[in-house]
Amino acid sequence: MRIDILTLFPDMCRCVYSESIIGRAVSNGFLEVYSHNIRDYSKDKHNRVDDTPYGGGMGMLMQAQPIYDCYSAVCNDIGTKPHLIYMSPQGKVLNQEKVKELSSYDNIAILCGHYEGIDERVLEEIVDEEISIGDYVLTGGELPALVLLDSVARMLDGVLPNEEAFSLESHYNGLLEHPQYTKPFEWNSKTVPEVLVSGHHANIEKWKHEQSLIRTAQRRPDMLDKANLTEKDKLFLKSLQNKEKN
Ligand code: SAM
Repeated sequence: MRIDILTLFPDMCRCVYSESIIGRAVSNGFLEVYSHNIRDYSKDKHNRVDDTPYGGGMGMLMQAQPIYDCYSAVCNDIGTKPHLIYMSPQGKVLNQEKVKELSSYDNIAILCGHYEGIDERVLEEIVDEEISIGDYVLTGGELPALVLLDSVARMLDGVLPNEEAFSLESHYNGLLEHPQYTKPFEWNSKTVPEVLVSGHHANIEKWKHEQSLIRTAQRRPDMLDKANLTEKDKLFLKSLQNKEKN
């Protein structure tokens, strides 16, 4: 997969995707990521990319022309039109289902807004979808773009050691993950649940699954409505509810 980020702050993006797991995926060729400075496409003699909003109001808006030209250059470079996502607090809120869907694209471009946002006309012209990372407002789209990049990249072949590394985690199968423990066995007078050191694989898997159901019921009961629960899971959850009532 190739991901192109259109931004006024390319260095802010590069320093994230050149580090750690995503950095390794890029250097090992499992993923290509490029950041493009929208300012390089300004036709203004002072390289301006923003101006005041028509109709008045606070702050500045990013202008259409530099964004459109930056996008066109990316299309020419790739040789095709990427799926263009505008990071926006007005978009659909990102979830694991959307991340899975996006991981199947060959080319994604992510547009980062700044200041008060972007001239609507260029959004109408080039954007395929708007995605938000939550119901709050940030100063720019770079952090949201990097959240999207990270979440999509870790689903790609070769980025994590195997599919289990993400398929057992929270949200992938509609549940939260069970609690996890590492060495030492005892820390601060707390020990690890005995079943995890029993060596009994089936019991360990059962414990993990039940803990996952308990966690989800306690922390995100809303997720249970959409989760793919077996009859056994439903009975287990019912028994939990009954225990709580007694
Ligand atoms: N005036 C805009 C509004 O009220 O909808 C908010 C603009 S915000 C200050 C500047 C930029 O940050 C946006 O263009 C967008 O790219 C990015 N941004 C801010 N919050 C975001 C969020 N929750 N999700 C995704 N992008 C966000």
